[in-house]
Amino acid sequence: MPAPKHRSGTLRKIFTRTPSGNTVLHYSKRKPNKAQCRLCGAELKGMPRVRAIVLKRIALTKKRPTRPFGGNLCSGCMRSVFIKKARSMTL
Ligand SMILES: [Zn+2]
Repeated sequence: MPAPKHRSGTLRKIFTRTPSGNTVLHYSKRKPNKAQCRLCGAELKGMPRVRAIVLKRIALTKKRPTRPFGGNLCSGCMRSVFIKKARSMTL
């Protein structure tokens, strides 16, 4: 029987194989939801799905795509924003 604190579904169960061949049960916090585009809600590519405490350890170039609106908009929405801006420019 697991300890009372492990009986809820809050923590994720991870079955880990030890060097001696036994399978032991570890508990860890669940992953956050995948990053979404702010306009269309599509899942963003190239974004790590980790907790904020882990993000502090990751290099900035591995946190989001290095392009304008990287990490906020998907590539299609980024292009449409640029086209809208260019067409609304008054010279
Ligand atoms: Zn989008």
